[in-house]
Amino acid sequence: MRKTELSEKAFKEAVNLMPGGVNSPVRAFKSVDVPPIFMKKGQGSHIVDIDGNEYIDYVLSWGPLILGHAEPRVVEAIQQAAVSGTSFGTPTLMENKLAELVIERVPSIEMVRFVNSGTEATMSALRLARGYTKRDKILKLEGSYHGHDDALLVKVGSGVATLGLPDSPGVPKKTTENTLVAPYNDLNAVIEIFNQYAGEIAAVIVEPVAGNMGVIPPVKGFLEGLRAVTQQDGALLIFDEVMSGFRVGYHSAQGYYNVIPDLTCLGKVIGGGVPVGAYGGKREIMEMMAPSGSVYQAGTLSGNPIAMAAGFATLSNLTKEAYLHFESLGDTLEKGIRSLSKSHNIPITVNRAGSMIGMFFNEGPVTNYQQSKASDTVFFSNYYREMANRGIFLPPSQFEGIFLSTAHSLADIEQTLDAMESSFQALKNE
Ligand code: PMP
Repeated sequence: MRKTELSEKAFKEAVNLMPGGVNSPVRAFKSVDVPPIFMKKGQGSHIVDIDGNEYIDYVLSWGPLILGHAEPRVVEAIQQAAVSGTSFGTPTLMENKLAELVIERVPSIEMVRFVNSGTEATMSALRLARGYTKRDKILKLEGSYHGHDDALLVKVGSGVATLGLPDSPGVPKKTTENTLVAPYNDLNAVIEIFNQYAGEIAAVIVEPVAGNMGVIPPVKGFLEGLRAVTQQDGALLIFDEVMSGFRVGYHSAQGYYNVIPDLTCLGKVIGGGVPVGAYGGKREIMEMMAPSGSVYQAGTLSGNPIAMAAGFATLSNLTKEAYLHFESLGDTLEKGIRSLSKSHNIPITVNRAGSMIGMFFNEGPVTNYQQSKASDTVFFSNYYREMANRGIFLPPSQFEGIFLSTAHSLADIEQTLDAMESSFQALKNE
């Protein structure tokens, strides 16, 4: 059994200091009914909590740590940047270097602007799309999470899905009245909305692989259809690749599926574990941003030297071989789970796109939010507890995917499948 004494003590203190004891809701582990686990250190694919329990980590700080924890080249880059000065508020050379790399790798990006989080990236991309098209409406997909910007906090997945809040108080109705919503993977619904609001929609914003209602890849033709319908109407297509960027493929999800949006939002991996976000796209559109254009957006710490250095060290070490490694481990894990599902007679649906993997406790298929919500969340929370006790750290929510890093090994995957096997066995005997 895991020791939990120190984490429980720390959480008791934290709830008096921060709302719910945390700085981001899902960290409260509420939906799995496990006391929050306070982490102490990480190395490669492993993390250790303050009670001394060690885990194989499939959360990776919710995606960013694609090279694993405390990767020496990333740590060195951060150290070198820090001793030279942590922030200047002026341009620095590392911004050029990371921008060049992002432009080279992400097919839709001809120009990029760095911000500090994924939320800032999507919020700014929407403002730009509205400024560029001179239209107000936006269309998002049900169950997608694009950060906590007011206009996008409608029918979201992620922490809000976990907590069962359909929306958030504090978001004025006026702010969301221009937000239209269609079910994920339902192109006909999107076309219907475009017929109804022809010429009024500034942009469709979509996670090209949904990752906030569990992992749901696009069905064949969905992204291509979004591309066609937006182009026909004069609306922009925005890919929110905050999660999928540099994770689903060497050229991100847009390269993997070969559908090129007008604008792309990035975050997570491009900061290598340090706060960062970015949005970019066609030069003609990006040049509308201040100071070259009139759409305003700014940031005291945007392009921060430490974040740029960590991002550059991460992206420049993500070789094509890394993606073969993800493919191979992902495939082994996927097949292993399917085989355990059969042998234990537990309905499980596995969805995977590159190193993003989702597992639902239902028969499937799971292609949209409604189907994702049909997963057995009570079983998930029991399974979660059993896996944690066996040293496997999973995201504490049914509606989040698991991630792999280059530091994960075949031995990690085998150990995880063994833990899964004995967890299922224990749950059967309960
Ligand atoms: N978009 C997507 C697809 C995300 O998954 C997230 C965060 N999980 C965000 C935007 C928001 O990013 P951040 O938490 O850095 O604000």
